[in-house]
Amino acid sequence: MATKQVEIEEVPRPIYAEIDVQALKHNLRRMRQIAGDRTLWAVVKANAYGHGLENAVHAFADADGLATIDLCDAERARRHGWHKRILLLEGFFDETDIEPLQDLDVETVIHSPWQIEILRNHPLREVKVHIKVNSGMNRLGFLPIEVGTIQEWLQAIPGVKVMGVVTHFANAEPSYMRDAPASVDKQLARMGRLSHSQTAACMANSAAILWHPEVEGDAVRAGVALYGLSPDSHISSEELDIIPAMTLSAKIIAIQEISPGEVVGYGSRWRAERPSRIAVVACGYADGYPRSMPDGAPTWVEGQIAPLVGAVSMDMLEIDITDIPEAKLGSLVELWGKNLDANRVAEACGTIGYELICALARRVPLRIKE
Ligand SMILES: *Cc1c(COP(=O)(O)O)cnc(C)c1O
Repeated sequence: MATKQVEIEEVPRPIYAEIDVQALKHNLRRMRQIAGDRTLWAVVKANAYGHGLENAVHAFADADGLATIDLCDAERARRHGWHKRILLLEGFFDETDIEPLQDLDVETVIHSPWQIEILRNHPLREVKVHIKVNSGMNRLGFLPIEVGTIQEWLQAIPGVKVMGVVTHFANAEPSYMRDAPASVDKQLARMGRLSHSQTAACMANSAAILWHPEVEGDAVRAGVALYGLSPDSHISSEELDIIPAMTLSAKIIAIQEISPGEVVGYGSRWRAERPSRIAVVACGYADGYPRSMPDGAPTWVEGQIAPLVGAVSMDMLEIDITDIPEAKLGSLVELWGKNLDANRVAEACGTIGYELICALARRVPLRIKE
């Protein structure tokens, strides 16, 4: 039997993430307000925290630069008309990155001696570098005491232009601060004079921008707050005057009326204690909704919270709508977003909102709300 050629233009599954461009713009203005006249890098790694790099390029037009991890992102941003600065937060990964770095005019972090070796051995036109300083997080960077030497080494390489120093805070969120061995003040103390080099230090992430005005420097790197999510799950977006830009929604595609004692989903994890109305929602772990989510995790439908029941499947999940008679076939269920803070949902399974929004699967269509 011959199959008929059909074209399916829209993904037929009833799930989408709405991206609110006005919210992204509002959040950028908000961070700009706090950052003052410092250079504002908009961090767009992980596909702009799941919001779509192209949307970020468009919405963050007033930022001074984009910061990301991947040269492919830099190429995409340039292709979409981004003419301002671009910075690779983890630096380049291989010698083969050096030519595209220069072709695309992308600045790079230098965090390790092997990167300096590559710069020495490759003929350069111009590579703009930022020296990464390890001020106590012990992830990337040179110790503050090494920075002088590293700077001399770099400046001695023809074609290398040293732009400044960068460091990163491990605990700039108020609720992380208690007794943190690497608190902001301890990291600043380790930076010493480097943190005061007004000309060329870039230290603050969203949390430090929001809660640590004592962090100086001439540039900041704003990530999660630009997407409307609080870096600290104990402080709401509203309190910070930022607006969640991603709302993940899926429709109810089936309803089961079940008796007490019946069980729901793989592994029969959840058991009904009363006659229950169970809605099947077209969102699963292959969409980025964590399988580790426990019974009772919040979802939002028809203006009320409905608890998750049973294990999340690959393409579906179930919620208890017994107490929400308005919920019906076709009702949109919000998994996180404007009405349901991603941090609150994340907390239910022991993670942070960052992870949920970044892990939104590629198969979920983004609907752009201008
Ligand atoms: C991701 C990242 C940021 C942005 O952090 P937020 O908490 O999202 O603001 C800043 N700097 C570096 C080095 C990063 O990797």
